[in-house]
Amino acid sequence: LASPHHDNGKGSGDLSNVAPERHKLSPAVEGVGDGRAFFTEPLRDFSRADQRDAFTAGIEQATVPQVANDGTVEDIDKAISAADAYFPTWRDRDPVERANMLVRAADIMRARRDELSGVIIKENGKCWVDADADVCEAIDFMEYYARCAVPLFTRERMGLFIGELDEQWYTPRGVTGVISPWNFPLAICTGMTTAALVTGNTVVVKPAEQTPGIAKIMAEILWDAGVPKEALHFVPGKGETCGAALVRDPRVAVLAFTGSKAVGLDIIKAAGETPEHQAFVKKVVCEMGGKNAVIIDTSADLDEAVLGVRASAFGFQGQKCSAASRVVCVDDGGGVYEEFAKRLVESTRALVVGDPKLPGTDIGPVIDEEAASKCRHFIQRGKDQCTCALEMKVPDGLEAQIGKPYVAPAIFTDVKPEHDVAREEIFGPVLAVLRAKDFDDALRIANDSPYKLTGGVFSRKPAHLERAKREFRVGNLYLNRGITGALVARQPFGGFGMSGVGSKAGGRDYLLQFVEPRASCENT
Ligand code: GLU
Repeated sequence: LASPHHDNGKGSGDLSNVAPERHKLSPAVEGVGDGRAFFTEPLRDFSRADQRDAFTAGIEQATVPQVANDGTVEDIDKAISAADAYFPTWRDRDPVERANMLVRAADIMRARRDELSGVIIKENGKCWVDADADVCEAIDFMEYYARCAVPLFTRERMGLFIGELDEQWYTPRGVTGVISPWNFPLAICTGMTTAALVTGNTVVVKPAEQTPGIAKIMAEILWDAGVPKEALHFVPGKGETCGAALVRDPRVAVLAFTGSKAVGLDIIKAAGETPEHQAFVKKVVCEMGGKNAVIIDTSADLDEAVLGVRASAFGFQGQKCSAASRVVCVDDGGGVYEEFAKRLVESTRALVVGDPKLPGTDIGPVIDEEAASKCRHFIQRGKDQCTCALEMKVPDGLEAQIGKPYVAPAIFTDVKPEHDVAREEIFGPVLAVLRAKDFDDALRIANDSPYKLTGGVFSRKPAHLERAKREFRVGNLYLNRGITGALVARQPFGGFGMSGVGSKAGGRDYLLQFVEPRASCENT
């Protein structure tokens, strides 16, 4: 076989009957806990006609479940009561059995992957490549967390003192509230939900209001894979009612959230309240925004830089926390700034704004009218404050045909660090190109944001790449490539500063947030 990527040993289903001892998974998941035997799910290869045809059939077959966002505060209360009551049973269940449920759910998703991509395309407007990647990442989270979870519950001997047995292990925390985003409606919802479940916590999921359909399918797949209904509750509803009630309930021990800074900070604040009858301090895992910069050094390979920036800025219409929204181009008088900007504009102009169900489309709709008007506001601010180098047009009749609003890519040049398009998270296809005097200045400008999520550098100078590793303070730094599309177990994803609290999704310490450490010392 050509590469391990195509022979990842997955899909073998149940693990327990090949586990010779407790807490040891099958050869299919050998390397438990260290991620070595883990390979990410290969993306579809759309250069192949058979994969294109299968994907097209999947889209046609996909039906978005109609889910009313009409959950009430009482529904949340009932779900939490049930999750709370079932917690001791789930907590004490064999960790291998819990891990097996994730592996089975991954198998189900793998078998239905094109249809699930179709649901995502229809529900949130992702184009082919991004929808496929969303499904693959959901599968990866489950396969990886299944491997990482089991060893946490095996007691590990600490020190080797004669006459004393010191051990450490982990215990689940309790009811976990998952508040998921619409931009990775399957991957992130699955990642947060299954991280909590596989570590023995019961879960109440409140999906994003824009994408409850694919989240409901996720819940059904997990139930079908053996996760008891009492362990996983699905309550679609409004953030102001259901989300707020979930966050504030004193029986909820962990809150896992991905979304806006405003909501994230509110969750952190609310979770800090400890009413009299609450028996723990809530743990918050919170992934918020970004205002991510890519530095273009004078030595950059501009062919690569243009493509990397274009994909990072406009993939899924810029609606990724990881998206590039600032380019900081070093301008030492040699014309790199002008050359880069010109080539980026021309390359971006080639993107196709269209129907996301079609393979040739690069830019689909934005998620809703609120998102569109926010983008339009900042495009206007850009025009007021700097130079609009590109504002693409939305083809006539497209919005009516798709039934969703569109914002076509816009690029601003001569942007100063104080301009709105250089400071505010727009979460849309709007890119600001700034000028730096030299590499030092570029690093300073790039670091000048309260968000610390992703960042990139295109440079052929090893010393500059090394400096960036030390001084470009972001959670995920990418060198000579695009800055989106972090892969599970290879680029653990997450930031700090105003980009969030907690450790990285798809990384080996992510699960530690869902458990409490315990230790014992026995005089032997
Ligand atoms: N993990 C995604 C990436 O690396 C971004 C997730 C997000 O937008 O929240 O592109």
